[in-house]
Amino acid sequence: ILEVKNIEKRFESLQVLQKIDFSLEKGESIAIIGSSGSGKTTLLRCLNFLERPDNGSISVNNKVIFDAMDPVTQRDSEVRKKRLHFGLVFQNFNLFPQYTVLKNVTLAAELLAQERPSFKQEKKTILNEIQDRGKMLLSQVGLSDKLDYYPHMISGGQQQRVAIARALALNPDILCFDEPTSALDPELTGEVLKVIRNLADRNTTMIIVTHEMDFARDVADRVIFMDAGVIVEQGTPQEVFSNPKEERTKQFLCRYN
Ligand code: ATP
Repeated sequence: ILEVKNIEKRFESLQVLQKIDFSLEKGESIAIIGSSGSGKTTLLRCLNFLERPDNGSISVNNKVIFDAMDPVTQRDSEVRKKRLHFGLVFQNFNLFPQYTVLKNVTLAAELLAQERPSFKQEKKTILNEIQDRGKMLLSQVGLSDKLDYYPHMISGGQQQRVAIARALALNPDILCFDEPTSALDPELTGEVLKVIRNLADRNTTMIIVTHEMDFARDVADRVIFMDAGVIVEQGTPQEVFSNPKEERTKQFLCRYN
């Protein structure tokens, strides 16, 4: 479903990503691990067109959506459409504080629906469908009783679960998590990981940047270890965690044992 080839990114003199190659099958989840500053967030940002890679290409469903050599694939007018391939869950939830939990989940779909030619005639039906889907997603993350709450009225773990429902609302091909539990108190981490685990059980295609090694080992089909902007090693959790080949991977994992 996703093919990333030779992605490179530099910020002035700092080479942050080098020769990043990996692919993702439909229904698969990949965990990206690596120390702070190794380029994990920048890689996710490149996939979501929040950064423009200096080199390389990105294809989704066999269609090239970015190629550094092909200006046609870099037109800003197409970016919004291409972003719809990806759902993003950030470290800090980033909910809209002025909207209810349900509105946070439905807002993007409502705005998008307004662009449909048939919106005026079918407004009521379309909005009802979006509401129903929002409620279904919130029930999937265990928040059916919080639809009318505002973000400040719920815990960080609950806010992050709203953010997950929101990321799913537009039915992305690939759901991306950037350290989804790192801003949470330890006692709230479990409930968010449980939701992500459920998504993995339902074969949601996911890229999860995480510092939770046990979780990565448990949930991911494949693990990518990054260090200093390169993919040092990738393989099954068994291969990377139990039999790492590279010295840098061994050293990194030692810190977590
Ligand atoms: P963490 O686990 O701490 O989130 P990370 O692996 O996600 O780290 P990145 O956030 O991708 O790492 O950062 C990689 C490097 O790129 C860092 O050295 C960072 O300072 C640098 N960097 C990131 N964004 C920018 C930017 N907009 N301008 C300049 N340097 C940047």
